[in-house]
Amino acid sequence: MPLGIMRVESVGAAARALAADAGARFVGGGTLVVRDANAGNVSIKTLILSDGLGLDRIAVDGTRVTIGAATSMAGIAAHPTLGFLKPVAESIGGPAIRNMATVGGNLFAPYPYGDFAVALLALGATVTVEDADRSEAIDLEALLGKDRRNKPAIVTGVSFELPPAGAFRFAKVVRRKPHGASVLSIAAVLPLAERKVAGARVAYGAMAATPMRARAVEKALEGQSLDERTIAAAVKVAAEGCAPLSDPQASAWYRLQVLPVHLRRLLSGGERH
Ligand SMILES: Cc1cc2nc3c(=O)[nH]c(=O)nc-3n(C[C@H](O)[C@H](O)[C@H](O)COP(=O)(O)OP(=O)(O)OC[C@H]3O[C@@H](n4cnc5c(N)ncnc54)[C@H](O)[C@@H]3O)c2cc1C
Repeated sequence: MPLGIMRVESVGAAARALAADAGARFVGGGTLVVRDANAGNVSIKTLILSDGLGLDRIAVDGTRVTIGAATSMAGIAAHPTLGFLKPVAESIGGPAIRNMATVGGNLFAPYPYGDFAVALLALGATVTVEDADRSEAIDLEALLGKDRRNKPAIVTGVSFELPPAGAFRFAKVVRRKPHGASVLSIAAVLPLAERKVAGARVAYGAMAATPMRARAVEKALEGQSLDERTIAAAVKVAAEGCAPLSDPQASAWYRLQVLPVHLRRLLSGGERH
């Protein structure tokens, strides 16, 4: 059966088309969904293209950043204000993948993918979601916690506050260098007020079925100076709430073993990427 390609004039029209046809899929860059169709997934009947919907823009308004869902990883890496996210974007696939892979698609990428979503989770990002009737802004964590398969809703963009200079940290552990899928990834925003951590947000990738917050770690860091004692306390609770899966990259057991090592390095400033 031939695969239909649909171009639409608005996000609302795309959402209506998705709602009307269980075989329709929205395409960001297509690095996953087009591969899936080409690999013979016959449940995919129609691809609805995001091109031309104006979802590939990045806006910086003071300290607020809004990134259109169809912005590519290459677009993130090249943006002058988003230098702190360059290592995250550049950790995703090789150059050909990064030219296509979008921010929106990364929120729906299956385990162990979703490295950009991990960074957005640490940044406390809000996601704008549109369906056929309405648009709403929801917390990224709430979106990641939902059953996101084949839902007729479209993410149009993500938005967050720029972190203070030097407060954002990211590490991705891979077996196949330089661009393997994650054994795990960690992103953290660690703002300091009078040398104490104030407003810590730490997120993990590949340590549960979807990117997750490391709340026990955040709690151990909050209000403390980032010294050896605090780092030891945070590392002690590193695995709380984690439920990693086993896959060709690593077993769940291995992921749990190496997480504390990489968290310690990240918090000590010795591992950024
Ligand atoms: C060789 C290779 C290496 C890769 N390496 C990595 C990696 O290191 N890290 C990583 O995180 N990922 C990796 N990926 C996975 C993937 O490329 C990225 O996660 C990418 O960001 C997915 O975005 P996309 O636009 O290509 O998604 P698509 O393939 O277009 O879509 C993926 C899913 O998301 C849905 N979707 C897309 N955009 C939206 C939207 N705006 N609103 C609602 N639903 C949407 C689609 O319907 C589909 O279900 C890799 C993939 C390949 C093939």
